[in-house]
Amino acid sequence: MTINMDFKEQLNNLASQCHDNTIIITPNQRLKTYLLNEIEATFYDSAWTTPKLLSLSEWLTETYQSYIFQKETNPLLLSQIQAHYILQQITSTEADSFISNIQTITDKLFSAWEYLKLWNIPIDEIKQYTQEDYQWFIRVAAQFEKHLTQHKYITPAQLPDFLLKNLAWMKQITTNQLLFFGFDEITPQISRLCEKIKLNHVNIEFITFNTPAKQIKAHAFINKEEEIEQMTNWAYEHYRQGKKRIACIIPELLTHRKTIFNAFAKKFYQNHFFTTQQLKAPFSITGGEPLSDFPLIRTVLAVLKCAQYRIDFSTINYMILSPYIGEATNEHNERSLFAEKIREHVFLEVSLKQVISLLNNDNSCPNLLQQLQIIQSFNINQFLSINSWIMKISSLLKKLQWPGDRTLSSNEYQQLTKFDSCLKLLSSLNFLSDNMSFTKFLNLLITKLNSQLFQPENETSPVQILGILEAAGQQFDTIWFMDLTDEHWPTNANPNPFIPAEIQRKYKLPHANAERELQFAQNIQTRFMQSCHEIIFSWSENSENTTNQASALIRPYIMTYQMQSVDSITAHKNLPVISFNDTIPITSSEFAADSYLIKKQAECPFQAFAHYRLKAKAFDKINFITSKKHRGILLHYVLQNFWQSYSGLVDLKKNKFKLNDTLLEQTKKYVHKYYQSIYIDNSDFIALESQRIYQVLNNWLEVELARDDFDIYEIEKSHTLFIDKLKLRLRVDRVDQLHNGNLIIIDYKTGLSSEKKWLDSNFVEPQLPIYCLLFPHQVVGLAFAQLHAESITFKGLTIENASLPGIEKQKNITGTINQFISNVTGQECAISSNNYLTLPEMFSLQHAWKLKIQDIANNFLQGVNQPQPINQQICTFCQRESLCRVHNIKRIFTQ
Ligand code: SF4
Repeated sequence: MTINMDFKEQLNNLASQCHDNTIIITPNQRLKTYLLNEIEATFYDSAWTTPKLLSLSEWLTETYQSYIFQKETNPLLLSQIQAHYILQQITSTEADSFISNIQTITDKLFSAWEYLKLWNIPIDEIKQYTQEDYQWFIRVAAQFEKHLTQHKYITPAQLPDFLLKNLAWMKQITTNQLLFFGFDEITPQISRLCEKIKLNHVNIEFITFNTPAKQIKAHAFINKEEEIEQMTNWAYEHYRQGKKRIACIIPELLTHRKTIFNAFAKKFYQNHFFTTQQLKAPFSITGGEPLSDFPLIRTVLAVLKCAQYRIDFSTINYMILSPYIGEATNEHNERSLFAEKIREHVFLEVSLKQVISLLNNDNSCPNLLQQLQIIQSFNINQFLSINSWIMKISSLLKKLQWPGDRTLSSNEYQQLTKFDSCLKLLSSLNFLSDNMSFTKFLNLLITKLNSQLFQPENETSPVQILGILEAAGQQFDTIWFMDLTDEHWPTNANPNPFIPAEIQRKYKLPHANAERELQFAQNIQTRFMQSCHEIIFSWSENSENTTNQASALIRPYIMTYQMQSVDSITAHKNLPVISFNDTIPITSSEFAADSYLIKKQAECPFQAFAHYRLKAKAFDKINFITSKKHRGILLHYVLQNFWQSYSGLVDLKKNKFKLNDTLLEQTKKYVHKYYQSIYIDNSDFIALESQRIYQVLNNWLEVELARDDFDIYEIEKSHTLFIDKLKLRLRVDRVDQLHNGNLIIIDYKTGLSSEKKWLDSNFVEPQLPIYCLLFPHQVVGLAFAQLHAESITFKGLTIENASLPGIEKQKNITGTINQFISNVTGQECAISSNNYLTLPEMFSLQHAWKLKIQDIANNFLQGVNQPQPINQQICTFCQRESLCRVHNIKRIFTQ
C-alpha cells in the first residue's frame, strides 16, 4: 500500500517514541485496527516490532484482570449489555404501566448514569432539583447501584474509578509508557486516572497526527441529489487517478446511507452493468443495516413468529418462500404456488394450524408440510431460562435445516457468524435473569438483532464513506465533507432528559447545549483539515420546501465549484437495441383462457402475453378481512342462493311479505358459511358483516321490485365461447328473460361503474359485450347491478321497452355510441339522441363489439406482445415491470 510521505514521517516519529514496554491506546477498536494496518504496511520490511496496541476499554479491562489475578475476592466486571440489562429490569419495575417504550427510556437512563461516572458528577447535585424526571432517575440509579454492590458487580463505567481506588495495591501497571493516540477528548474520570498513574513513574503522552490541508474549498449545490452525485463523481475521478485514501464524510450517514450507497454503486460498477461476477468493492461504507433486515436472519424471526398463535400474512409468506429453509430449492415452484394460494385464502392474520390444513389439502409441498408441523410442535407455552430458549431454538432451526441447502455466500456466512455472536451476547445475560416466556425471549432477541448493524467485512478500500466519528483520527489523501448546512453543522444539541440542563452545562457534557456542539464541531472540523492534503466542504441550497445556508464554520472557504465532467453511464456502454416488432403466433389448435384475456390484451399486449402465455402471474394484493374482493364474492354468493328460491318478479311479489325475513336468514347463513370456508371465526365481525350486506341487498330488492316483469333465465352459469381458436370460459352473473323472450344480461358490481367504458376506443371493459356474443340477436339490454352503499341502481344500455330502473334514454352518450360504431365498422352511424336505442341499433352496437373483440382476440392469437400500456395506471396494477422492463428501456433511450 502506498503511504504518502508526510504520513510515513509521522508513523516513523511515533515508532521512534516507542520502546519495548510501550502501550499505544486508541479511543476505540476501529482506530486501533486502522493504526495497526498502517503500521504493518509501513514497517513490513523493517526490523521494528509492532508495539502493543489496545483500545481504551481493552486496556482498562486488561489492567483490571492483572489486578484481580492477585486478589482472592474481587467484583465481577459486567459487560455493557449486562449492565444495561440489569438497569432495564429495574426500570421496568419502577416505570408506570402506561410507559411503553422501556427500551428507549433505559437507554437514556443508562447514558445519564454513565455521564455521572465518566464526568465525576456527584448525584447529590441532582437531588436539589425537584422535577419528577430527575427524582425518578435518582431512585432508579440508587437501586441500580445497590444491586451492583449487593452482587459485587462493577460496570465498565465504574472501572476507571475502581482502578484508581486500588492503584496502590496493584503490583504493576504492566508498562512504563502509555501513548494515547487519536483522542479528541478525555473524560475527567480518565484524566484523573492518568494523573494518578503518572505518579507511578509511567510516562503518558497524547499524540495526534497533523497534516495541514493545502487546499480547502467549500461549494454549494442545488439540492442533496446533486451534492451526492458530484461527490460520487469526485471520488470516482480520484479513484481513477490511483489515490488510495479518499474519504467521503457525512454527518447523518445512517439517514442517507441507502441513497449514497446506490449512487456509489451506480458510478463505480458502471462497467459491470451486465456482469454477475462478484466484484471487489473499490469503496466501503460504514454503518451497516440492522442484522434483522437480512433475509438469512429474517427467516429465523419469521420461523419463530410462526410458532405463535396468530401470524400475520407477510410473516408466513416470508417463511414459505425463504431459500434458507431445507428443501426450499427442490420445492421452489410448488412453494411459490402455495404462497399464492394462501394469499387468495387468507386475510391479514392466520394461524399455523390453518396453513397446515390448507397445505394438507393441497398436497404439493411434503417437505414444507413437515417443516410447518415441526414448528407447530415447538412448545412456546413454557417459562425457560435464556440459555434453554437458545438451545431449543437452535435445535428447531437445525430440524428445519436452516440455513438451507444452498452454499452460503461470504456475506451470508458473515451474517451467520454475527447471529451466533448475538446469541452468545444473549447467553451472557442468562445468570442475570429469571425464567421467561417465549414472547419475552423473542422480544429480547428481536431487540438485539435490530440493534446489531451488519456491514460485510471488506479489505481496506481506497474510497471510504464514513460518519463523523468513524473518520476522526484517520489520515487521508483527500476528504469530501458534505451536508454542511447551518441546520446540520454544528449538529443540534440533544441534552439528556434525566440530568438538569444547568448541570450538563456546568460539566460540559456531550450534546448539552449549542455552545458545546459548536466547540465539538470546531474540533472535529479542524481535525479533518489536519488529516489530509485537500478537503472539500459542501452543502445543498435547497431541501424539500426550505432554502439552506452554508454552515458558519465553512463560510470562509466558499468558492464557485466547477466539477470535472465525468462520462455518463451510457457513454461506457454498447447497449443492445431491443425490438418489439416480433410476434409469436399461437400454433396449437386451441387456446383456453378466461374473459380477462380480452381486457388485458386491450390494456397492454405484453401484459396478456406475460399472463396467459408465459404464465407470469402477478401477486394478488393481500386481501384484508374487509377488502372489496371479499365483499364482492359475498354479495354474489348470497344473491346466487337467494335467486335459487325465486323464479322471477311474479314470484318475488307473491312472497313480498316474507322477503325481508328470507333475505336476512339467507344472508346470515351464507355469510357465516363463506367466512368459515376461509377460516374466519370472529362472530362479532361476521354478525356485523351480515347486517351490512343485508342492508345493501334489502335496498336492492326494492329496485328489483320496481321493474317490469322478468323471469330468471340463468344464474352464475358457465359458458364456453370460441373466437377462432381462442376458447373463452365465461361465467355470467345473471341473465333475465322478458315476457317477449328477449334477454337482459346483468353483472353485479360492488364498486361504482359506468357503461361508457364499453364505448371507449381502448375497450378496457369488454366483459358484458363479450357475454352478448353468447346470445346472438336475443340481448336487448345489458346492465351493471350497482350494489354500492352510496348508489344502488342499474347502469347500462337497453332498448326502450326493456328499460330498467336507473337507466335513462341514451341522449348523453349517443355521440360516443355513433363514434364507436363508426370507428370499428368503418361505416357512418347516426343513432338519434332523443330516445332509447332501437332493437336494430342495439344489434348494430353488438355487431361493432363483436368485431372489436375479434380484432383483440386475433392480435393475441397472432402473438402481438408489445409492452404498450394504454396509460401509466395500467402499469401500476400490472406489477410486471421487472419482466417487460419497458420503463428501463424508455429511460435508456431518453438518456
Ligand atoms: S408493466 Fe406496463 S408495459 Fe409492462 S406489461 Fe405491465 S402494463 Fe405492460
